[in-house]
Amino acid sequence: MNLQEIQEREQEAIMPTYGRFPVAVASGKGATATDVQGREYIDFTSGIGVNALGFCDAVWADAVAKQAHTLQHTSNLYYTLPQIHLAQLLREKTGFDKVFFANSGAEANECAIKLARKYGTDTYGEHRTKIITLVNSFHGRTVTTLAATGQDGFHHYFHPFTGGFVYAQANNLDSVRACMDDNTCAVLLEFIQGEGGVLPLERGFVQELAALCREKDILLLADEVQTGMGRTGKLFCYEHFGVQPDVITSAKGLGGGLPIGACLCSEALGGVLGKGMHGSTFGGNPVCCAGAVSVLERVSQPEFLEEVRQKGDYLRGRLEQIDGIAGVRGMGLMLGASPSRSTAGEIVARCVEQGLLLLTAKDALRFLPPLNISREELGRGLDILTQVLKNC
Ligand SMILES: *Cc1c(COP(=O)(O)O)cnc(C)c1O
Repeated sequence: MNLQEIQEREQEAIMPTYGRFPVAVASGKGATATDVQGREYIDFTSGIGVNALGFCDAVWADAVAKQAHTLQHTSNLYYTLPQIHLAQLLREKTGFDKVFFANSGAEANECAIKLARKYGTDTYGEHRTKIITLVNSFHGRTVTTLAATGQDGFHHYFHPFTGGFVYAQANNLDSVRACMDDNTCAVLLEFIQGEGGVLPLERGFVQELAALCREKDILLLADEVQTGMGRTGKLFCYEHFGVQPDVITSAKGLGGGLPIGACLCSEALGGVLGKGMHGSTFGGNPVCCAGAVSVLERVSQPEFLEEVRQKGDYLRGRLEQIDGIAGVRGMGLMLGASPSRSTAGEIVARCVEQGLLLLTAKDALRFLPPLNISREELGRGLDILTQVLKNC
């Protein structure tokens, strides 16, 4: 099938929820994708921060294939080894005490929300269910995580949304304080707002907020779906901020391309959700867990994280020198850049034509290359971007 045939069939059969680029990806290796016509693209997207080890990493693919040949699924009524192995490894590498496995970022956040409400009502009474999130955040596409998302643009069409969410201004402690009362059980935030434009929170704000939460026994829930699993040069982004959240959620990079989400909590919260209170048919699937073990074993190595930081510095340095880019922000290999000419959407469309896959986030260009991208591939992608911006 050529691209045009694929596009026609897609239009016929798939709900038109995605605006797609005219590329049908057929295969990939490392940070290089190949389309159905045999054309190659440098990948600065990792899916959307998912393929942490690039396309079809050999060690990861072997781990996944081996598990698929051994046991692909059984219900959560039974124990399975990959799930236990991944949970144990997450504990060791993060210091969090217990985990619930889901299938996506939104589901991991749903678990965090349920856990916070259960803790609030168990401890303080039925009124304590309110959750503060930040303006311009993104927490997922379920009806509840859309409600948690602090952007009006996501609050259309699907009423009634789940109640109990209020939105405070990022980097404004007074705004958070004004939202807090005896009904508040948690604050949910991203340390770097990814979909919102790659906007890191200020360290001072995060630290003061964490102290305030601690003082009032309000849980700090960190949505690390995009920032976690080595993306920012630490295993999880909270490590940059010198705070200890009560709960973190992970997904995107966790499975290296397979669907898995995780909600991790502190020791004190480990027993809040009891038997029958939450669950998932696919959550903790053995194949996904085997993939995640392979990713976590690699990205948690100090040398690997050091490489991510160094490549992040290199990428940032090169971006800052490109004519047509006005400002670069972010951490590690999660960077955003504001174009000074043309729109991010136009630039990305041109880059795709020239063989570079790139993302936008609001008005910014967004860079989420595979964490193990080679310098050579980084350089080639940057050369394409430089050339595109020259002609804008
Ligand atoms: C992508 C993302 C989500 C949603 O993850 P899904 O796997 O699409 O449900 C939630 N929060 C953040 C910060 C994200 O970047």
